[in-house]
Amino acid sequence: MTHDIKSLTREELEARFKEWGAPAYRVGQLLDWLYTRRVTGWDAMTNLPKALREKLTAEFALHTLELVRKQGARDATQKFLWKLNDGQLIESVLIPANPALYGDASDRHTLCVSTQVGCAYGCKFCASGLDGWKRNLRVEEIVEQILAVERWNERESGQSSVVSPQSEQDAAAAKQKTEPLRLINNLVIMGMGEPLANYDNLLKALRILNAPWGGGIGARKITVSTSGLAPEIRKLADEPLQFRLAISLHGATDEVRQRIMPVNRKYPLAELTSALDYYQWKKERMITFEYILIAGVNDHLDQTRPLAALARRLHAKVNLIPYNTVEGLKWTRPTEEVQEAFLAALEKLNVTATLRREKGGDIDAACGQLRLKTERELAAK
Ligand code: SAH
Ligand code: SF4
Repeated sequence: MTHDIKSLTREELEARFKEWGAPAYRVGQLLDWLYTRRVTGWDAMTNLPKALREKLTAEFALHTLELVRKQGARDATQKFLWKLNDGQLIESVLIPANPALYGDASDRHTLCVSTQVGCAYGCKFCASGLDGWKRNLRVEEIVEQILAVERWNERESGQSSVVSPQSEQDAAAAKQKTEPLRLINNLVIMGMGEPLANYDNLLKALRILNAPWGGGIGARKITVSTSGLAPEIRKLADEPLQFRLAISLHGATDEVRQRIMPVNRKYPLAELTSALDYYQWKKERMITFEYILIAGVNDHLDQTRPLAALARRLHAKVNLIPYNTVEGLKWTRPTEEVQEAFLAALEKLNVTATLRREKGGDIDAACGQLRLKTERELAAK
C-alpha cells in the first residue's frame, strides 16, 4: 500500500529526501504546502522542481476527505460528515469557544475528532458503537479532519486563495501576505471511536498536529478522551508530550458503570483508577472526568459520594453532561432540577465540577449520530 504523505513526520520525510538526493530545505517547502497552505494536489506545489513532484506522486498518496454533509449554523456548533477513500463515513464537530467547558475564553475553536469508524466498546448509551466497529482511522485520516475543516473555513470566509509562487522570493513574499488563517486551536479526541484502541496511529497523528511544522496545536490544547483502557493510559503517561486526559467515567461504582459500559468488566474501577494514579504521578496534570447524566441510571445522589472520593483522590475535575437522546435508544436526561442538585451535591463535597447547560442542543449531541443517521437513510433507500 502506498503511504499517504500526511502520515509521515518531518524526520521521516527528511530521510526519504536524503535517499533521493533532494536538499533538506525542500522538505520545509513541502510541509508548508501540506500544513500551512493545505493544498490538495501535487501540482499546486509550484516551487518544487517538477522531477521531485513526479517522484512524490509516484511514491506517496495525497488523500483528502470528501465533505458529504454538514449540519449546523455558522458560529454555532457544526458537524461535518466525511467520506473516506473506501467509502466509510466519519464525523468531526466544530465547537466555537465555550468558556464554561474548557477554561479560557476568547476566539477559540475546538474540533472534536474521530479516531475509528464505529467503536467496539459498545457503551449502551452511545450512537458510535451501535453498528459495531469497522476499522481504525489511519494517521492521515485523523490529521486531515483538521485540515479539511480549515479548508472549508477558508472557502466560507471568502479568504483570497493562496497565490502560487513561481520563485523562492515570490514564495516568501506570498507567504507573508497570504498566510492562511488558522481557525482551530483546540482539539478534543472525543469523536467516533475509542482513541486509545488506535494508539499508534493516534499518537503519530497528534505528533504531526502538535509539531510546529505541522498543525502547530499545543499539546496542552489537545484532550484525549477514553472510556478507560487502563494499559494504554499507563502508556500515555510515559509519553513525553503533555496532552490532557479525559476519562468517560459515567458511573462512580462498578455496579453503575457496568450497567452502561461493558469496558468496565475488562478494566473495573480499581484497575482504571490505579492506572490514573500512575498517570497523575508521572504527569502531575489535572484529569477530567466526563459524567453524562442519564435519568434513573447514574443521576442518583448516592453516586455523588463515591464520585467525589474518586475526584479528590485523582485530582480530577468533573464535567457533568446531560445525556443527548439517541434515536432508537431508551435513555433520557434527568430534569434540570436533578442535574442542578447533582452538581450542588458535588460542590458541597469540595469537588470542582461544571454542568453543561446548553438548551435544546440536538446538534450538540456527541459524535457518531450524524453518521448513524446517514448510514440508516442510505440503507433505507
Ligand atoms: N471513546 C471515547 C471518546 C469518544 S466518546 C470515550 O468514550 O471517551 C466522547 C464522549 O461522548 C464520551 O464521554 C461519551 O461517553 C460521550 N457520549 C456518547 N454518547 C453520548 C450521548 N448520547 N450524550 C452525551 N454524551 C455522549
Ligand atoms: Fe465507544 Fe466512547 Fe461511544 Fe463508548 S462512549 S461506545 S467507548 S465512542
